[in-house]
Amino acid sequence: MKKKICLLYGGKSAEHEVSLQTAKAVIQALDHEKYDIYPIFITTEGDWIKGPLLTGPVETVKQLEFRDGKKMAPNALSTTVSGEKGGYDVIFPLLHGPNGEDGTVQGMLELLNLPYVGNGVLASSAGMDKVIMKNLFAQAGLDQVKYVSFIRSEWENAPETCFQQVEEKTGYPCFVKPANLGSSVGISKCKNRTELEAAFKEAFQYDRKIIVEEGVTAREIELGVIGNDDPQCSVAGEIVAKKDFYDYKAKYEDGETALIIPADIPEKVYKKCTEAAITAFKALDCSGLVRADFFVTEDERVIINEINTMPGFTPFSMFPLLWKEAGLDYPQLIEKLIELALERHAEKQ
Ligand code: ATP
Ligand code: MG
Ligand code: MG
Ligand code: MG
Repeated sequence: MKKKICLLYGGKSAEHEVSLQTAKAVIQALDHEKYDIYPIFITTEGDWIKGPLLTGPVETVKQLEFRDGKKMAPNALSTTVSGEKGGYDVIFPLLHGPNGEDGTVQGMLELLNLPYVGNGVLASSAGMDKVIMKNLFAQAGLDQVKYVSFIRSEWENAPETCFQQVEEKTGYPCFVKPANLGSSVGISKCKNRTELEAAFKEAFQYDRKIIVEEGVTAREIELGVIGNDDPQCSVAGEIVAKKDFYDYKAKYEDGETALIIPADIPEKVYKKCTEAAITAFKALDCSGLVRADFFVTEDERVIINEINTMPGFTPFSMFPLLWKEAGLDYPQLIEKLIELALERHAEKQ
């Protein structure tokens, strides 16, 4: 029997476009003999639109934007599969950022008792909020940069106090980020007060909460982790951005960033990264998959920057490339994640 797999993609977040690219690639990679693929496109307004059953790969992202299709209520997921009775075998939320990677969709899927790929409610929401994530990492004893966070009203009411706090706690250079986002959207690097003021304004456009971090000069090393109770690490990869930092453009547009896989780091450093990645995975009670992002300084300090509970997932993204190097190619990786989803679901019953 073919498995019915439902792909959720698009979404309301600033990472909408990235999600579309991922959906196209996953559709290309899924074995159409083994799976019936049911696409659900989520518009930037947050409407859910059901697409037709896909029997083969799609050529362009445009073909996945079913703008004229029929809107559906998200909770109709449990009952409707192209007119047939019974729900999907597994849901694959290919969504990044708020309203997708943050536990909201996962919570609904829990209520509907549907198996889904990736992290559960708690890990997704804790992983999406950089402040909560860092607090949990601190509790788990992981090495991190200094950080401080603010909510919008604090900034509106007393900007000067906020800026002074940053200067005391992190100094310059610092990174200002929306607390709940990804793909470097809304992030600025600041070298002085003027840049800090602009950076606050920018970051608060995306979130009511922001985080400011001490800027470090370090190599950027990333690791993939997959599994449920017994998570495994991939090889390490290094990001070498030609720009000042790995911003949105460097990630998706200018192609100037080199991904070096495996990263040329000493075995000892790799080991430290794997230990920290597993600690981070467990600290947030993750399941399925995670990409752990590190800074490694010249004196071999391994600093965890963040984890991503639904990392970039096109065939050219770091996470799948890391697993390819570790012996699991893109279609195999997708299969593995589906297996892990079913395994976790079975354990809950
Ligand atoms: P994604 O989810 O796509 O990985 P993100 O939006 O969650 O990205 P971060 O990974 O936190 O953002 O930061 C984006 C980039 O900014 C990093 O890859 C790095 O190049 C740079 N950066 C972020 N924080 C710091 C820091 N404290 N010191 C130095 N560089 C930093
Ligand atoms: Mg991130
Ligand atoms: Mg992300
Ligand atoms: Mg990152």
